Amino acid sequence: MSMNVQPDIDFIKDMKEAGGDTLKKCFQCATCSVVCPLSSDEDPFPRREMIFAQWGLKDKLVGDPNIFLCHQCGDCTAYCPRGAKPGDVLGAIRAYAYKHFGWPAGLAKLASSGKNLPMLIGIPAVVVFVMWLISGGLSLPTYEEFAHAGYGHFFGHWNFALLAKNVFFIDLIMLPTAGLAVYASYKGVSAMWKKMAENAGVGEALYRPSAPQFVKEFLWPSVVEIVQHDRFKECVTNKDRVRGHLPLMWAFIALLFVTAYSAFAQDVLGIFIPSLHGPMSLWNPVKIIANVAAIALVVGTGILWGNRTKMEADGQASNTFYDWFLIWMIMGVGATGIAAELFRLIGIVSLGYVSYYLHLVSIMMLFLYMPYTKFAHLVYRTFAMAFERYRDSAYVKNPLNEE
Ligand code: SF4
Ligand code: SF4
Repeated sequence: MSMNVQPDIDFIKDMKEAGGDTLKKCFQCATCSVVCPLSSDEDPFPRREMIFAQWGLKDKLVGDPNIFLCHQCGDCTAYCPRGAKPGDVLGAIRAYAYKHFGWPAGLAKLASSGKNLPMLIGIPAVVVFVMWLISGGLSLPTYEEFAHAGYGHFFGHWNFALLAKNVFFIDLIMLPTAGLAVYASYKGVSAMWKKMAENAGVGEALYRPSAPQFVKEFLWPSVVEIVQHDRFKECVTNKDRVRGHLPLMWAFIALLFVTAYSAFAQDVLGIFIPSLHGPMSLWNPVKIIANVAAIALVVGTGILWGNRTKMEADGQASNTFYDWFLIWMIMGVGATGIAAELFRLIGIVSLGYVSYYLHLVSIMMLFLYMPYTKFAHLVYRTFAMAFERYRDSAYVKNPLNEE
């Protein structure tokens, strides 16, 4: 039986833009599936995905867990006899999936293209600037005030002991942004899960795990595997990516803890102990964790930056907005945060305030675009790994059904 497959022009255009332009070179020798350290005999990749992508079968690809299980190590690209860069093609398919499942669609589309970079920077820059303007804080403090309050009066100051004005304005910017990111991630991952279940024919499972069972049996083991970098460590050609990714991941975990502590201390405890609204001492244990994490963030990102540059110079990877945007954003967060702290310590108010403004802009960018950029692998890969476990579990392969 012959099958007439119509190429999808938009899909092919997206593939090219996100680094999958070598797709057509593949002649399906399967070397990539053999050398890929993460591919299994039962469900090999990336050769099959290369075929699907050549045929434009985007529905099959976005519901294929393998595209998220790939860690973009480049082992397959190093051995491809045709120079087809399958690692980059899978990266391009992931970029397409984030846009495909992204909600709201307009924001997902905006964040997917380098042509929109001025707008991507401009939106958070304007939001933070307008907040700064309407807060009435748009003026530099005296040297003494800066030494005493740090950036605690960036958005001004009021005599309302229960809630610092700065905390109020930061919450006003960051809470809706983070809320949108969480909801958009939930929508995207739910749609991905549905598609994967449909493609794998597991939509009609006889019984389903409860939420605690799902977390215990599928989600938590996937999180542990990710934190330990078990699969990442199997990559051979590109060990530097693990050396960069590991400190980066721990830095994010530490900064998440610091942010949660800080929000609790400022928003809740600060109601009863107003002095908590001031800057932390350098020797406060939480501040030490924050500083070590900031350094790990910059070092880890620097290693990934160098690694990406080298891979591109060696022809092992393509230069794509998808890959670089995340590196730039994280480096922006780390560099502006460290700069703001250094300028505070040496007492240069103007440069400190500019750095702090840029720091808020880069944090907002990271949150706002998280569900649509390469950063989305954080949630999509975790759930794809959970799906991989679920698909092979007794919930789906019910032994009572087998003859
Ligand atoms: S991508 Fe390269 S290694 Fe993989 S099947 Fe195609 S030609 Fe072979
Ligand atoms: S980039 Fe690495 S993990 Fe991804 S398919 Fe290629 S060899 Fe496998």
